[in-house]
Amino acid sequence: MLYDHILIRYGEISTKGRNRKQFIDKLRDSIKAALSAYPKIKIQAERDRMFIQLNGENSEEMIVILRKIFGIQSFSRVIKVEKDIEKMKMAALDLAKQFYHDGQTFKITGKRADKTFDLSTDEINHEFGGHLLANIPGLRVDVRNPDINVQIEVRKEAAYLSCETIAGAGGLPAGSSGKAMLMLSGGIDSPVAGYLSMRRGVELEAVHFFSPPYTSERAKQKVIDLAEKLAEISGWIKLHIVPFTEIQEEIRRQVPQNYSMTTTRRLMLKITDEIRKKNEGLAIITGESLGQVASQTLESMFTINEVTNTPVLRPLISMDKTDIIKISQQIGTLDISIRPYEDCCTIFVPASPKTKPRREKAQFFESFVDFDQLVAKAVEETEILMIKPGSNAPSSSSPWKDLF
Ligand code: ATP
Ligand code: MG
Repeated sequence: MLYDHILIRYGEISTKGRNRKQFIDKLRDSIKAALSAYPKIKIQAERDRMFIQLNGENSEEMIVILRKIFGIQSFSRVIKVEKDIEKMKMAALDLAKQFYHDGQTFKITGKRADKTFDLSTDEINHEFGGHLLANIPGLRVDVRNPDINVQIEVRKEAAYLSCETIAGAGGLPAGSSGKAMLMLSGGIDSPVAGYLSMRRGVELEAVHFFSPPYTSERAKQKVIDLAEKLAEISGWIKLHIVPFTEIQEEIRRQVPQNYSMTTTRRLMLKITDEIRKKNEGLAIITGESLGQVASQTLESMFTINEVTNTPVLRPLISMDKTDIIKISQQIGTLDISIRPYEDCCTIFVPASPKTKPRREKAQFFESFVDFDQLVAKAVEETEILMIKPGSNAPSSSSPWKDLF
């Protein structure tokens, strides 16, 4: 393998003006953390490109890891060559020969970032194309759909040659958009909502409501397994497990059945907001999608949302279930989500909760119980787990690879 560096293109970051430096620093941090198993590499970040010097480390494995990192538009393994046209020609020829099979076509894609370089982009294409044609018998040019695309990027410090471009995961670097609390159930939707938020640079902490003995240890394990999947992206994730039994029992005793779902949701949101305050988060994320179930009508959201003015982000709001399922499959959470499980919210809930609950009515029904004290107690007794990627996290085959 001739390649000695990986060249990384940022895409969207480079358009972010004043925030650019911060984005690049965050991206460098995520790459460094993700590639910590390769001590010999060196990472160098520039305004519009990042370079990883391989120093003999295995680049095949690194490709799998880099494809998952948010903030990377695309990347290529490259050979770094001194900006001397003869040396560059030799390197281009070596590289093309390594990929060439009988009768294949090629083109040169020159890019001159260093405007002081002797050859223009067209001249690079012409000069190097001619050199390869003269030295590889049988090679033909096809500028539309070549088998081999030899990319030559001339920059200030050196030229970089490559025959590959690998798509990155896109999005924004981890943590570049601040922190939010993800309300994580054991269902299909909330892990997908978490994934899509992370893709936009949000740092997540997860909050799960747990009602033993009505919900079992298996249900809790399921949520831990889902958090482990999300931790594959961020390295780790803080999971808050809220004991919710007492509140649910109180709701069953005191609130009319057709409002019990609404009150349950209001209190979940309130508790999540208290945990957010303690952890300095800026928003709450849910897996809600319009129209799926009774609690997901606009009337219902309006009434539930009354308990806080913290932004509640709902990344799935307009998505169809089939699209959500597709993403959950691709990120590897579907198999966990479909395990049988008792949800703390459905256990006490009547078959037909109100689809158009009213704020005043919810307030009235809740006024007979000191819920504030129960909320404070639940927050106090919340268990905090630091979740790392699962032990069977993929190393050689990436579940994220064909996403977007
Ligand atoms: P999901 O597939 O994410 O469970 P859902 O379609 O089952 O969603 P609901 O049960 O109405 O919908 O839940 C809506 C949202 O409320 C969930 O996406 C999640 O963000 C939050 N939520 C529900 N149950 C819990 C729970 N036990 N702990 C934390 N959050 C929850
Ligand atoms: Mg659910």
